[in-house]
Amino acid sequence: MPTETLTSTLKIFNPATGELLKEIPETSQENIQKKFEQAKTAQKSWASVSLKQRIEAIASFEKLLESNLESLSRTLTSEVGKPIKQSRNEIAGARRRIRFFLEQSEKWLADETVYEEPGLTEKISYEPLGVIVNISAWNYPYLVGVNVIVPALIAGNAVLYKPSEFSTLTGIEIGRLLHEAGIPKEVFHVVIGGKNAGEILLDLPLNGYFFTGSYKTGQYIYERVAPKMVPCQLELGGKDPLYVPADNNDVKAVAAAAADGAFYNNGQSCCAVERIYVHENIYDEFVKHFTEEVKSFRVGKPEDESTYIGALTRSQQLDFLEMQVRDAVEKGAQVLTGGKKIEGDGNYYEPTVLVDVNHSMSVMMEESFGPLIGIQKVKNDEAAISLMQDTAYGLTSSVYCDKKETADKILRQMDSGTVYWNCCDRVSANLPWSGRKNSGIGATLSYHGIRAFVKPKAYHLKG
Ligand code: NAD
Repeated sequence: MPTETLTSTLKIFNPATGELLKEIPETSQENIQKKFEQAKTAQKSWASVSLKQRIEAIASFEKLLESNLESLSRTLTSEVGKPIKQSRNEIAGARRRIRFFLEQSEKWLADETVYEEPGLTEKISYEPLGVIVNISAWNYPYLVGVNVIVPALIAGNAVLYKPSEFSTLTGIEIGRLLHEAGIPKEVFHVVIGGKNAGEILLDLPLNGYFFTGSYKTGQYIYERVAPKMVPCQLELGGKDPLYVPADNNDVKAVAAAAADGAFYNNGQSCCAVERIYVHENIYDEFVKHFTEEVKSFRVGKPEDESTYIGALTRSQQLDFLEMQVRDAVEKGAQVLTGGKKIEGDGNYYEPTVLVDVNHSMSVMMEESFGPLIGIQKVKNDEAAISLMQDTAYGLTSSVYCDKKETADKILRQMDSGTVYWNCCDRVSANLPWSGRKNSGIGATLSYHGIRAFVKPKAYHLKG
């Protein structure tokens, strides 16, 4: 088990070896309260610092991520089991997102005069929310952290940041580097702990709640903070479909791209491909190439440069994956490769491909969040659309085909925050990142993700 919560100490384990890495005291209720009081006072002076200065501090943070890349990547890999190359990629991706906020924030936070006539000016100004909390997930702690922390601080908010209990060491590093970059200690606080610390944060009279994690916890938080009548944004899980219509000349390349979309980060991505539908005309060819690709994935120690599949972060997920495979096989699915835990130290699961699957099976309906995929044959595009939409989630949907018109027709009908043509498992800082239905509410990234951390004030100015 990688991490377990004791009464007041977090034990941090390496999920690839089971080795105890560190024991860290959880932030007590009293200290969380103190952090909140400090943040409340300090937020006002932080908001009065010029926007340019706040942007400069975040620019220094971006540089520190660059100069500390290797040690930060090693820490991340040690506590979540992510292959070292993928840890470096994550930090590089976080730096790209930060640069987007550095370049765009002035434009989207500036006062806007929207109407003028002699004697009347109508203007919108954007004020920070106040003290906000970010309760975060472990699978991409830099990426999902940056989505919230960076625009919130640039906009003049104070932030209480609770990293996941499974990525605590990384959360501490993020706090250390932000302070080193010039963000005042009173303005940005790291709160250490799991569910208990989260509950204490939910009790505080904060001005905004920004959560990344599972649907179950997100829905609970939404209900819990509703009486406060402050913004609450949720970035939750998905069961993201990928469809391969008959209109495809290079099925081998599509199979390789789809396999990467399903298995990168060991499948532990909110926008990982979670289920695949393939037109019957190309189904056999696709399945053959896809399975060959998955068999070629190198499973190994996360710190080895050649590893593509590392350890799963949470040991409980191994049992969940076993349950999904068992359920599918009992209902008629076939395992083409993988299908079980890898014995020995660490949370390893074989990259697994299932066929002859259908929607009575958990693997096609519930988020797997691991190296497991089901591929279902479909008769035509209409059948695929209907299956893609048969889900409680709405994060991303993708289509791989040659003709843009084929993709357009399908993607228009997807009730998901993001749609992809000939790509998948991709996030861009230029575009809003938002889930529909059980995948969440609100958006981060793009100008929507800058404006999410401010409240508009309408000025009616006569004279
Ligand atoms: P989780 O819901 O178990 O935990 C998320 C956070 O909530 C953690 O910090 C945890 O300590 C905290 N928490 C748990 N119970 C709480 C409570 N009662 N009160 C307050 N806080 C509480 O999720 P996870 O396992 O960390 O993350 C995996 C999930 O996150 C997956 O479903 C994944 O798809 C989703 N995710 C979504 C996005 C996105 O952008 N949509 C990004 C990354 C991960």
